[in-house]
Amino acid sequence: MSSITGAGVSPGRVIGPVLQMPPAVPEPDAAVGLPAEASIEAETERLKTAAKAVQAGLKARAANASGDAAEVLKATALMAADPMLLKSAAKLLAAGRSTERAVWEAAEQVAAQLKALGGYMAERAADVLDVRARIVAELRGVPAPGIPDSDVPFILAADDLAPADTATLDPAKVIALVTAGGGPQSHTAILARALGLPAVVAAEGVTSIPSGTEVFVDGSAGLVVPEPGETERTAAAAYAARGALPAFDGTGTTADGRLVPLLSNVGDGEGALAAAAAGAEGVGLLRTEFCFLNRDEEPSFEEQSAAYKAVFDAFPGKKVVVRTLDAGADKPLPFLTDATEPNPALGVRGYRTDKAHPGVLQRQLEAIAAAAGQSEAEVWVMAPMISAASEAAHFAGLCEAAGLKTPGVMVEVPSAALTAGAILEAVDFASIGTNDLTQYTMAADRQLGPLAELTDPWQPAVLQLIKATVDGAAATHQPPKPVGVCGEAAADPALAVVLVGLGVNSLSMNARALSGVAALLKTVTLEQAKEAARLAVTADSAETAKAKVRANLPMLETLGL
Ligand code: PEP
Ligand code: MG
Repeated sequence: MSSITGAGVSPGRVIGPVLQMPPAVPEPDAAVGLPAEASIEAETERLKTAAKAVQAGLKARAANASGDAAEVLKATALMAADPMLLKSAAKLLAAGRSTERAVWEAAEQVAAQLKALGGYMAERAADVLDVRARIVAELRGVPAPGIPDSDVPFILAADDLAPADTATLDPAKVIALVTAGGGPQSHTAILARALGLPAVVAAEGVTSIPSGTEVFVDGSAGLVVPEPGETERTAAAAYAARGALPAFDGTGTTADGRLVPLLSNVGDGEGALAAAAAGAEGVGLLRTEFCFLNRDEEPSFEEQSAAYKAVFDAFPGKKVVVRTLDAGADKPLPFLTDATEPNPALGVRGYRTDKAHPGVLQRQLEAIAAAAGQSEAEVWVMAPMISAASEAAHFAGLCEAAGLKTPGVMVEVPSAALTAGAILEAVDFASIGTNDLTQYTMAADRQLGPLAELTDPWQPAVLQLIKATVDGAAATHQPPKPVGVCGEAAADPALAVVLVGLGVNSLSMNARALSGVAALLKTVTLEQAKEAARLAVTADSAETAKAKVRANLPMLETLGL
């Protein structure tokens, strides 16, 4: 088998057996009913036995798992033999549905009922749907969907991972991720970086490697080598023998003392506590929509302010940048998003929803202000998807009316980067969202694996727009208003050095990335960072930019990054 190349999105070099993610269970055909000769009693029994087997399997996995994974598995195991589910399935069987179809439809009904109850019960709807797929797989005698189970650590190969797979991914078992789809901004890439797992995405062909085959994964070079030889074994052994990265000490700085605050991206209070424990100097991006995903209605004022306060309380006296709801495209919120838009990434998303749904943004700003008033965090607020200075000015007005003192914007579209000067006349800071800035600069959907080469923040055009933003800030004000980066680019240690060299003031990333970025930054002077930036901006491709900068930063190798 020959080597497969893809996009390396999370560093590390390991060798292990591959396990393929089983395909999703297709919906049983509604047109196929129960065969005339089948006995309803016997089929009901078969269904119960399958449900019990699924429950036993999930319980056994829960016993071997830890943390969140164990909790999710336990909750799902409970659902597997839920009497309500089995009773409605038995009724549908009696009405002539096939056994598989009966459990499929019954689960649909139970999930709808749970959703209608709202809150915790609504969250269980996903478990019911997971359980039904497992029961159908059991009835068919095919592998259960989801992350496979194994006694030995393995490398997970999949087409791509869905957010729902995240919870059951046990980092003690999975030692690397390789996917045929996905790009540098995909869910798989973000998850791998959050868990510190080596990962290669957009590696076409990895789903054809037979389960059990030993492979070498290099998450920096973007390489997957089946049946590795001596060279790969030496590389993996050297990686395994590297010293652990020193924990982040809470002060981001270059070797010559230029302070670069290292902040964290969080989605809720729990994430904020974890970020504070990892030494984050504050929150550079609170994705408020993550507090309210899957909600059909706008959350109440009380609910919102409680969610925000939980984050603020993790950072007393520190900066917390709250992003107002970024609904739409990859983060749909039913109460703000028009699901019929033909091109959601170019549609009414982020700040633009204020016109279509007036009042939601204002109420959110009021809830943020209330939470800020009851906490000691230094609260800044920014709007996503700002395209013009007039929008920035309008947002600043809304913030002022709500009593919020530090308004800012995200720079996520080229027009905002190019008019950063005018935008920063209206607001106090800018934060560059490189995930979307890359998508819109390269006109390439951030979620599409086949476009991974384009959706790479190392693209020189993206770096030039980051430079334009910093230059725009410098041309308008002295000292320039702060420009940070809060996209995934900030979590890549080598790219973080480039960003600092381009003049970015602060970097915000998932908490897990802080130690690597801090450790590398400490080894380079500002001049060296500027040289890295020059190399990257003038390169003729993302690949060359990355290769040139990496070759110029030998400490990456020593640190295992
Ligand atoms: C970005 O676009 O870079 C960003 C940080 O926002 P999100 O990933 O939530 O769209
Ligand atoms: Mg964005």
